[in-house]
Amino acid sequence: MSQTLVSPILLGTGLEQLNTVASQALHQQSVEISKALNGLIPQQFQGKTVSQVPLNTGRKVIALTFDDGPWPEFTNEILYILKHHHVKATFFVIGRNVRNFPERTKQMYLHGHALGNHTWSHPYHQHSEGQAAGQIDNTTQWIEQATGGVKSRLFRPPGGFLNNGLAAYAAKQGQTVVMWSVDSKDYYAPAPRIIENVLSQAKPGAIVLLHDGGGDRRPTIVALPTIITKLREQGYEFVTVPELLDLKAQETQTASGG
Ligand SMILES: [Zn+2]
Repeated sequence: MSQTLVSPILLGTGLEQLNTVASQALHQQSVEISKALNGLIPQQFQGKTVSQVPLNTGRKVIALTFDDGPWPEFTNEILYILKHHHVKATFFVIGRNVRNFPERTKQMYLHGHALGNHTWSHPYHQHSEGQAAGQIDNTTQWIEQATGGVKSRLFRPPGGFLNNGLAAYAAKQGQTVVMWSVDSKDYYAPAPRIIENVLSQAKPGAIVLLHDGGGDRRPTIVALPTIITKLREQGYEFVTVPELLDLKAQETQTASGG
C-alpha cells in the first residue's frame, strides 16, 4: 500500500468512515494500476505493428485479447470469468459500443484490463486520412470519457486489414498496431474447436484473438475457462498487451545496457 492512513482514533472517525477510507484507497490503488497498464507504450513499439512478442528468455507469457465489445450480455460474463481466474486481458473496443455502454467500458478498466481502439464502426473499406481520423479519434475520445482518463495507445484494425488507411493513421499517431498470432476463430467455431485452436497454436509471447462482442459469444464463454486452465497447466502467465510490450522493452534495455 502506498497510501498512509491517519489513525482514526486521532481523527475521531468511526469504523464506518475508516472502512470507507480503506475501500476508497483500495479502489484508488486498482485505478492507479489500471492507469499504468493503459499508459505510455515503450518507444520502440510506437507506430509499429506487432502480432506476437516472444521474449529472449522464452518466458511463457501470453496475451488474451477480446474484440468488438463492449456488449452487455457477453462482456459481463467474460469479465467475471477473467476475474475468477485472476487473468488480466486486453479489450479492443468499438467506439459506438463505448458510447452506448460506457459503464461496461469503465468496468473493463476498473477490473484492471488494458483497453485498445478498434474503430468507431468496424469498417473494412478504404479510408482517407480524414475518414480514418473520424473512426479512430472519436473512439479514443469516448474511451477517455467512459473511463475517466484512459488514453488508448493500442489499435487493432477491423478484420486485421492493414492496408485500408486505418492502421496507417493509427501508426502515424504513434499508436501500436496490434495483430495476433493465435486465431481462436471464435467468430464461427464451436467451443471445443475454439479451445483446440488456441491450445494448438499457443507459444510464448503469443497474442490470442477472441471476441466479447459482435455476435453470439456463448461459445467463447464456454471455451474460456478451459483455455485459461490448460494454458496455466502448461506454465503460461497471462499478461496484457502493454505489459507484454513493457517486458520486451525491459529486456532490450538490459541487453543494450550490458
Ligand atoms: Zn473486430
